[in-house]
Amino acid sequence: MILHLKNTADKKVADMLAETYEAIVLNQGSTSILITPSRMRTVEARHEQWIDKLFVFDSDIQLASRQYIRETRPVKFGDITIGGESRNCALIIGPCGVESEPLIEESAALIRELGLKSMRAGAYKPRTSPYSFRGMGLDGLKLLAKMREKYGFAIVTEVRDSTHIDDIIAYADVVQVGAKSMYDHGILQKCSKANKPILLKRGFGSTLQEFVQASEFILSGGNDQVILCERGIRTFETKSRFTLDLCGVAYLKEYTNLPIILDPSHAMGYAYGVPDLARACMAMDVDGLLIEVHPNPTIAKSDASQQLTHEQFRALYKTLQSIATAINRTIV
Ligand code: PEP
Ligand code: MN
Repeated sequence: MILHLKNTADKKVADMLAETYEAIVLNQGSTSILITPSRMRTVEARHEQWIDKLFVFDSDIQLASRQYIRETRPVKFGDITIGGESRNCALIIGPCGVESEPLIEESAALIRELGLKSMRAGAYKPRTSPYSFRGMGLDGLKLLAKMREKYGFAIVTEVRDSTHIDDIIAYADVVQVGAKSMYDHGILQKCSKANKPILLKRGFGSTLQEFVQASEFILSGGNDQVILCERGIRTFETKSRFTLDLCGVAYLKEYTNLPIILDPSHAMGYAYGVPDLARACMAMDVDGLLIEVHPNPTIAKSDASQQLTHEQFRALYKTLQSIATAINRTIV
């Protein structure tokens, strides 16, 4: 359960209640919020004097639950707001990895041409083979920061492990936690204390419950700017790289209060399927799409098979605009 304490409950009382109910304490302005394990559903009569509001839940999806906050939480990065009152759908595009300055400049040119406001690219790439390109590291982050300075883009870039998380937090506008890192508690803990939005990707072997509970680690540590990203899960199917769980997206929309971004590129794994999937994603009425583009995907150092050429993306963009209009979303 979540308990909002009355302002008359001082720190001593809050600590006493936290100990009694095994709760995490979250301070929001002058209000102390206690989050207990969800199996606890009532407080003792003698403690009621301290409680302003009490919310009970069926599971440990609590802060992220629509039962707690009905509206989708607003999350702001750069000039973009998603969720909240907005009907924005952020199109976050860019190459899989930062490979060179010319590549990033070409990507920036496409983003500017389309009037978009954010750029994605990884400087630290988590890979399945140690012999693959693992990113430009800090030099890559500096190139991304340069794009923000020159063009005002909000930068979305991923953290691979906890050794460089402080740099990512310092350089990024949105910290992306990749599918392979969803369970990394060192990363989640740092993200929970960061004053930056966190784009949390679903682990490809994780249930929706596990996924949303990972977001609870960030929320309960004090960072309320969390975006959920569905990027495909592993199923028995081998013809596509992963399976984009759109049923899961419907669940997340119904039961959670966090903005949702969909990533058709990593789900499909092959460029030929990405435009149709991206249109399906837009039709899901979500808060954003993450799509990989590369001026020449055949020579990309990572995820070569799934990145769209700039020409392919221009064509896709036009059709996404029509769908956005039909569902009353504004592409930003
Ligand atoms: C990426 O966005 O380039 C990436 C590695 O994504 P994921 O963590 O979903 O595999
Ligand atoms: Mn990628």
